[in-house]
Amino acid sequence: MRLTQRIVVIGGGVLGTMHAVAARRRGYEVVHLEREGEARGASVRNFGLVWVSGRRAGAELALALRARELWTELGAAVPGLRFRPAGSLTVAADDAELRVLKEAAALPDAVQRDFELLDPGAVRAANPALRGELAGGLLCRADAIVEPRQVLPALRGYLAREGYEWLPGREVTEIAPNAVRDHTGAWHQCDLVVLCPGAAFTGVVGRYRGYLARDGVRRVRLQMMQTAPLAERLTTAVADGDSLRYYPAYDLPARSLLLPQAPVAARTRAQLLMVQRADGGLTIGDTHEYDEPFAFDVDSDAYDHLQARAEALLGAAIPPVRRRWTGVYSEVSTGAALYHRSEPEPGVVLVTGPGGRGMTCAPAIAEETFR
Ligand SMILES: Cc1cc2nc3c(=O)[nH]c(=O)nc-3n(C[C@H](O)[C@H](O)[C@H](O)COP(=O)(O)OP(=O)(O)OC[C@H]3O[C@@H](n4cnc5c(N)ncnc54)[C@H](O)[C@@H]3O)c2cc1C
Repeated sequence: MRLTQRIVVIGGGVLGTMHAVAARRRGYEVVHLEREGEARGASVRNFGLVWVSGRRAGAELALALRARELWTELGAAVPGLRFRPAGSLTVAADDAELRVLKEAAALPDAVQRDFELLDPGAVRAANPALRGELAGGLLCRADAIVEPRQVLPALRGYLAREGYEWLPGREVTEIAPNAVRDHTGAWHQCDLVVLCPGAAFTGVVGRYRGYLARDGVRRVRLQMMQTAPLAERLTTAVADGDSLRYYPAYDLPARSLLLPQAPVAARTRAQLLMVQRADGGLTIGDTHEYDEPFAFDVDSDAYDHLQARAEALLGAAIPPVRRRWTGVYSEVSTGAALYHRSEPEPGVVLVTGPGGRGMTCAPAIAEETFR
């Protein structure tokens, strides 16, 4: 007779993996299935930003702050995550952007975000690699960085001691009461199924699309690139003024007075985010495409724009670009939910749709599932 409850987690991305962590912490046995040989979705294609700064006041900020605490704990237990409490600098290029930063620094929850408004000299003192023209910056000490290509294997290594079975290369094709079947025909018995399919809405998820529609879950495609190592350290993550247009924390009176965006940035909904990887390379992005079917090719003008923005902030050429890729995430787009969780059948929990905050919030989302 099996005494310990067993959970099958479907999806080897950060949401599935954090659910595996949360389940093991509560003493459940976990069987973890991933259709690819290694997860290759949004969770390994992102910046690795644990991003508190731009979150909407209230529930979204609270979720991000709780996740930040959990990332800190995990970072101490799992060195392979390369968790770094590096903070971020959102840099204003002109007075209009600076006014938004000033209003953000005066928010009632600025202390929780650990915001500090910096003049140009203080920006350079905080991050000496930023030698370009700038009007000021907003330091957010609550922001942090992990290495997205290492997080999933590192967490699985941490889980592997006991009670955890990782089964890559298994696509789940059928979900029945208390069991799932993978494409090899093998059945996996369990007490609970946690389905974290990311942006895969066909196959076994197809019959649950009505649930996803309730939160307007949609897919978003982004363009990214990575350079050869920069010769010096970028001490913080960096965002440009275009990021003020997208993050809800900056929905402040001065936002309506921002100068028009460069046409290519407006067309591709681009903002500059720049993070230094542990090996010194710079991950640079991003763009946002909402209309499906998505382009199957990449937009060179968007890359040229992001490169120019990065070089304007650094006041120098970026190292040669070594890699370019796209990524797709799923996000809730209607109502107040921060992500989608439903129980489409007894004993089956579907969790997806955290959007651009999924890497940040995954540990807290998993915690909420088991609460
Ligand atoms: C370019 C980019 C940059 C981003 N930057 C950040 C950032 O810096 N910070 C942040 O907080 N968020 C960021 N995000 C968002 C974040 O990456 C996502 O929200 C998050 O990774 C979603 O995780 P997930 O596990 O739900 O999805 P995924 O990573 O897509 O994982 C889902 C997994 O499920 C598997 N799967 C699907 N169906 C089945 C099946 N039937 N059987 C078995 N396996 C299945 C898939 O193969 C996949 O591996 C970014 C996203 C992108 C695309």
